[in-house]
Formats: sequence, C-alpha cells, structure tokens
Amino acid sequence: MHFTEPVYRNPYWPTFPLLQVTQGCTHNRCKFCTMYKDVRFRPQPMELIEDDLKELASIAPHAKTIQLLSANPLVMTYNKFRPILEKINEYLPEIEYIYTQTRVSDLKNKTVEELESLKELGLREISLGVESGDDWTLKRVNKGYTSQDIIEQCAKLTDAGIDFWMSFLNGVAGKEHSMDHAINSAEIFSQCDPMLVGTGGLTLFPGTPLLEEAQKGEFTPLTEKEMLIELKTFVEHLTCDCRFITHHTVSASLSGPNFLDRKDEIITILNNEIEHGDMGRYAEIRRNKQSL
Ligand code: SF4
Repeated sequence: MHFTEPVYRNPYWPTFPLLQVTQGCTHNRCKFCTMYKDVRFRPQPMELIEDDLKELASIAPHAKTIQLLSANPLVMTYNKFRPILEKINEYLPEIEYIYTQTRVSDLKNKTVEELESLKELGLREISLGVESGDDWTLKRVNKGYTSQDIIEQCAKLTDAGIDFWMSFLNGVAGKEHSMDHAINSAEIFSQCDPMLVGTGGLTLFPGTPLLEEAQKGEFTPLTEKEMLIELKTFVEHLTCDCRFITHHTVSASLSGPNFLDRKDEIITILNNEIEHGDMGRYAEIRRNKQSL
C-alpha cells in the first residue's frame, strides 16, 4: 500500500481498509494545525491507487466500507474524483460505504447533481473539520471559509443525501471570544443538521502559529474549567438530533447517539465536572496529547 506520513484516519470509522487518494492538505494554514506542514499536497497518481486497490482486492475482496485519505480528497474536481470511485467499485464490487474527510470549501466546485452521482458510487459519509460556526473565530484561526459557506455547502450535502459530520474545536477562539464561538457554532451546526457532531479541545502544539501568539500574549488560551464552560454552552445551544461524540479530557463518557434525548444528562455531567472535576489531571492529559 502507498501511504505518505502522517497517516491520519478517523478512529470512529473502520480503520481498514484505507486508501490514499491525495496527500497533504491544500490549505495548510489553519493556525492550530501542523499535521501536514511538511507534506506537499498532491493527488495520488491513479497507477498507485490502482496498485493499492489490486492489493485490497486480494486481501479484502468482500470489503463493504473504505476510508479515503488524506486531509481533503474532495478538493479534486468531480471529473477527477469520480473515476477513483469507479475504480473502487471495479476492484471491490461489494463496497457500500465510502467515507472521507474534507474541507467545507472543497464542496464549492460541485453541484448537487454531481454529489448525488458520487453518492450512487458509494460516497455516503463526509467528515467536515468545521471547527467553528462563528465568523470572527473562523477568520481568527484562518480556516478559509465563512459561516455562510458552511450553511450553503452543507445544504448541498443534505440535498444530495450524503451524511456528514461536523467538528467543534473547543477553546480555539481563546478567552475573549469563547461564548460567541460556542453559541454561534451551535446555531450554525443546528441549522446544518449533521448526522454527527464531534468535539475536541484545543491543544497548542509546538510549531503552531496559535502557540506563538499565545507566547507573545496575543492569544489567551482557556483554562480547563473555561473549556468545560464553553463546551457546556455549546451543548446548551445545540438543537439538532445528532450522534454526539467527544474526546474531551473529562473522564465521564459524554458520547453516544440521540443527542437531544441525552442533552440534559450531558449538561448535568458537565456541570458536575465544572464544579468538582480534577482540572490538574485534565491539564496533564492535554499536555500529553499527540494530536487534536
Ligand atoms: S486543520 Fe485541516 S484544513 Fe486546516 S490545515 Fe490542518 S489539515 Fe488542513
């Protein structure tokens, strides 16, 4: 198999089989991310994709799912992406669910009809690393799109019948803008109505512009308690009935289906954590994190 490091796969999706169809990230400018800093973006040559599919056909001929890598494969035009899905179906004829992650802006160059046609070839779930629905925050961390873009592109996925995930990056707005980030994100996410909302907490990794800004006093990170208050505010304002998952540092499990049925329970757990949680231990867990 042909993979370019770093290989990030969604751990909440089957992590086998994987197929690299692009390497790196076309954007590579989000202020909290160094994941693909040293990797030049390029589409994987079709010969390598076909080599990998031949290998997968020999070891997993009955595969029903496949996860496509890397950061944003859908940046490719419809005319370049469709043949990849056709090849997957040729070599793995029982495939039913194709998953990939991508950027919101990658959907702009595709019509609903094109997305419908990709769905017919198996593209069933897309994860969008949205991070915020608040325009000030999106600009502040250089995401490269606006809340209006998020609404418009997610509506296309809904119209095409493709399920999607949205992620909320707890803490990324810093102290001054924390509540706007939480409330406006929850409103935009609720409007988009994704099948899944995921949340993770900001860790300032070495080499990120946001860490440099924090060291210069230009960005004020949240304390662990403030992170929990922001997460609780986000949850309080989220009104879509999604699956909710979090890899927050708090020990209590907040993840599961039927968010609206569990919302009060999640808020109760977060209130308890805010009052009684071991913030020193949560800070320690965050310091040991290797990735968001
Ligand atoms: S967060 Fe995602 S879109 Fe932003 S630079 Fe990192 S990989 Fe690219």
